[in-house]
Amino acid sequence: MKIFGIGRNYAAHIAELNNERPDEPVIFTMPETALLLKNRPFYYPSFTNDIHYEVEIVLKISKVGKNIDVKFAGNYYDEIAVGIDLTARDLQQKAKEKGLPWAIAKGFNDAAPLSGFVPKKDYDLQNLNFTLTVDGETRQQGNTGLMLFNFDYIISYLSKFFMLKKGDLIFTGTPQGVGPVKIGNRLEAFLEDKKMLHVDIK
Ligand code: MG
Repeated sequence: MKIFGIGRNYAAHIAELNNERPDEPVIFTMPETALLLKNRPFYYPSFTNDIHYEVEIVLKISKVGKNIDVKFAGNYYDEIAVGIDLTARDLQQKAKEKGLPWAIAKGFNDAAPLSGFVPKKDYDLQNLNFTLTVDGETRQQGNTGLMLFNFDYIISYLSKFFMLKKGDLIFTGTPQGVGPVKIGNRLEAFLEDKKMLHVDIK
């Protein structure tokens, strides 16, 4: 199983980190050991002092495909979830300054808390609201209508380089409002009004 992440997919988030707006999706990958499932707690690791939350909509690929045309991309996923792309911002910043890959900043153990999946047919994918709260306070509010690259485009683009297989996951990028997590915080993620996920930081 492969896990992809999309960077810089919401203009307001690009602006808050002073990044450049990309011409094509910014892709990174995470190992399977990055997944944190079933509302398990997250234990703050010693190699970073600046882990940020990034709430994202996650797609699950439903069948094998490569070189998928945008107009057929919707046939390759049936379910969506909410995930949190925990990012060691200090390690990522060092890597960015040197033009080096983000692997350790994004793909460390438990860096990708993930909710259960729900059928995409129950939602308007072009106008999907999702939210992250920290200790009950809203910190991120996203709407998929604001993505630079929509779900179908992302799937088509990824499939040019990587054969997609059933069960592969795509974290589709975070909106503005990212910030640090602290030991003792509870993160909660919502799809529309439905609570999908919580993570206690220990
Ligand atoms: Mg992200």
